[in-house]
Amino acid sequence: MQNKKIVDWVNASVGRLNPYQPGRPIEEVAREIGLAPEQVCKLASNENALGVSPLAVEAMRRHAEDMHLYPDGSAHYLRRKVAGEFGVEPGQVVFGAGSNELLEFIGHCFMGPGRSIVVSQYAFVIYKLLALMFGSEIVETPAVELGHDLDAMAAAVRPDTRVVFVCNPNNPTGTFLREREIAAFVEKIPSDVLIVFDEAYAEIALEPMPDTRQRVLERDNCLMLRTFSKAYGLAGLRIGFGIGSPDLIAALEKPRQPFNTNRMAQEAAVAALDDRDFLTRTRELCLQSRAYFEEQFKKMELPCVRTAGNFILVQTGDGAKIAKQLSDRGVIVRPVVPYGLPEHIRITFGTMEENQRVIAELRQMLN
Ligand SMILES: *Cc1c(COP(=O)(O)O)cnc(C)c1O
Repeated sequence: MQNKKIVDWVNASVGRLNPYQPGRPIEEVAREIGLAPEQVCKLASNENALGVSPLAVEAMRRHAEDMHLYPDGSAHYLRRKVAGEFGVEPGQVVFGAGSNELLEFIGHCFMGPGRSIVVSQYAFVIYKLLALMFGSEIVETPAVELGHDLDAMAAAVRPDTRVVFVCNPNNPTGTFLREREIAAFVEKIPSDVLIVFDEAYAEIALEPMPDTRQRVLERDNCLMLRTFSKAYGLAGLRIGFGIGSPDLIAALEKPRQPFNTNRMAQEAAVAALDDRDFLTRTRELCLQSRAYFEEQFKKMELPCVRTAGNFILVQTGDGAKIAKQLSDRGVIVRPVVPYGLPEHIRITFGTMEENQRVIAELRQMLN
């Protein structure tokens, strides 16, 4: 007779994980503070302030009655559409349930004991979570002005390094890297080290994006990750894609479950890719929002760094407390304590009305 329980047998690599803490759902906060969900505004997960691409909504309505059918596991139409957009072969694209799932495929393929990854301090935290889960060692280089120090990252690559993550623009800091810096960086990375360009905000980036597409065509150790969650407003559908060399993509396809991306997501994504107008409007609102927040924070003497994403990181002091106080007032923002930034909060750009609301609340609280 033994007293061991099944949970005592959870793999150690999993047992020691601290789950990712997402932005709190609107309904949860509304229930807690006794407001109607419509009165709560969520500026915590970098979702699109304009909602869903209207072309995607139309496509979803059209296809609602096909949902008894399994999706096409190979995402044939979406694959052709994305390949066409980027001028690559269909075999150079892989789809995931959000780009987060693609990050997991990278883990399955390239992480494990005896292998390391290189990340920047304050980079998107999922990279480190995956490394822990797969047993890879994490080599983290200090940030410079909250952004990636590419020279330090290149210098940190060891013989056992298999993946280097470049998050551009970076979440949660909003910092960005330019073509010239990236071009110099890739020259220094050995050809048997994968460079992942996580470009979740590329389509609406507020600063010029480097030419990652060209890089991926020229080098077989580069992977570009994109998502429909942010620019196209499809976060709830979970769909993203990666573009790389045919061999690399073939490897990343192996750990993929047969129906990982769903039928509704594939249909919506095909339609969303044609929604130039939605991207333009989204980007313009983000530019307007950035100008507004920068001006307000300057007046309030709250330090912030320039962002290229649809969110801004601001130093308010005691981020956890400020975030809690804001959510008590019906505005959900993101504390970034798990990133080692206890003094900051991250605010997603909302509509101008929502932006004004969060500033008004902050002003009241900080006075
Ligand atoms: C939002 C985000 C993602 C992933 O989003 P998915 O919804 O999983 O596609 C990936 N990387 C960064 C940096 C992000 O901000």
